[in-house]
Amino acid sequence: MDFKDTPEQAEFRKEVQAWLKANATPKTKDGGRGSQEEAYEKAKAWYKKVYDAGYACPTWPKEYGGAGLTQIHKVIWSQEVAKYDEPDGYFVIGQGNCGPAIMHFATEEQKTSLLPRMASAEDVWCQLFSEPSAGSDVAGLRTKAELKGDKWIVNGQKIWTSGAQHSDYGVVLCRTDTDVSKYRGMTMFFIDMKQPGVDVQPIKQMDGGSHFNEVFFNNAEIPDSQRLGEVGGGWGAALLVLMNERLAISGVQPDGFPEFFELVQSLELNGEPVVNNPVVRDRLATWYTQHAGIKASTNRMLTAVAKGGMPGAEAALGKLVGAVMNQDIANYALQLMADTGAICDESLAPQRAHFQKSVLFAPGIRLAGGTDEVMRNIIAEQVLGLPQEPRADKGMAFKDIPSGNQH
Ligand SMILES: Cc1cc2nc3c(=O)[nH]c(=O)nc-3n(C[C@H](O)[C@H](O)[C@H](O)COP(=O)(O)OP(=O)(O)OC[C@H]3O[C@@H](n4cnc5c(N)ncnc54)[C@H](O)[C@@H]3O)c2cc1C
Repeated sequence: MDFKDTPEQAEFRKEVQAWLKANATPKTKDGGRGSQEEAYEKAKAWYKKVYDAGYACPTWPKEYGGAGLTQIHKVIWSQEVAKYDEPDGYFVIGQGNCGPAIMHFATEEQKTSLLPRMASAEDVWCQLFSEPSAGSDVAGLRTKAELKGDKWIVNGQKIWTSGAQHSDYGVVLCRTDTDVSKYRGMTMFFIDMKQPGVDVQPIKQMDGGSHFNEVFFNNAEIPDSQRLGEVGGGWGAALLVLMNERLAISGVQPDGFPEFFELVQSLELNGEPVVNNPVVRDRLATWYTQHAGIKASTNRMLTAVAKGGMPGAEAALGKLVGAVMNQDIANYALQLMADTGAICDESLAPQRAHFQKSVLFAPGIRLAGGTDEVMRNIIAEQVLGLPQEPRADKGMAFKDIPSGNQH
């Protein structure tokens, strides 16, 4: 694991630094991000600018709108852009999760028409896996797709679909056969989200935003040409998406440490800089150790991927530790801020109310992309080699699995 730039990588870093200096917005302590709609428009404009400059989706081939570079170049880009106030991870679900599925399963014509528009955020994509009765156990999903002629007719409901209200397309996992085991009866498609029969209902969150949605399908049609992979091959296709999700979120999931480090340098407690307080120093040391550990294990995974490997189950470690730490830090930071912790106005609160917002969104980060318990199961089974947890429905036809719902 050597993270010193090679001469070629140093040259690329210099080029990126110069471009960002000329084009990106510097971080400021004041001013807010505005409404959710404004943040969305700002993100679209930023992605288009990055695309026009040739830095979008660094690892994708040039003919599909990428830069044709390596995973290490992508890390360099992420490190440099993180120094600016730009929403570079905003469309990570499309580019990080759906993009690889299209790249792997779609026809050449679909790839050349869809991927560059995804890279420039001209088209926005969402991932439609979770359902009211299928989250951790996504293979328990019930949204049905039935083949009529050369079209699939889709009926059912998805939930927690991030960004669906803005999306042009979605990658959707459906039940296509109930006579076989739950893993063998699913098929993956991409769907036009603006067509009749697709009804998107935003969910109001406790932080005031509506980032995710319920999506209802009522006889929505998908041409068979939009099938991604084999009929019944949906589980394998979904694993490919989830593996890429691990890789994509490992670069953008917050752990709260950099912001906490900044905060403690600016606060006072009983007339003394808070950073001199032994209890605060103890927390700082613990969280720094975890932050450094996550960074090292992410780098180890990226090195493996750069050498042609696949993102491994080790990413679950970073997800678990980072998401818990992010929530603990947010809670602790608000306590340190005392009365100021209650001020949510971005223009008045320290760090544009970062921790006030984080306290309300941090619980969601512990669920999104797999809950803490699911991460622990992955680490136990796939990293430590412990026995699998019992699966009562193993080998059973989907239609025979006991449930309160109709099949
Ligand atoms: C911010 C956010 C964004 C999201 N975006 C998307 C999206 O874009 N697309 C999408 O498809 N989904 C999305 N999701 C859904 C997310 O994938 C699910 O919330 C997650 O997989 C958990 O599923 P669930 O909510 O149904 O909880 P459940 O699976 O019902 O879990 C309930 C509880 O049981 C525990 N549990 C479940 N199974 C086990 C087990 N085997 N062992 C031990 N404990 C277990 C869980 O850890 C949890 O505590 C998003 C969620 C959030 C919070």
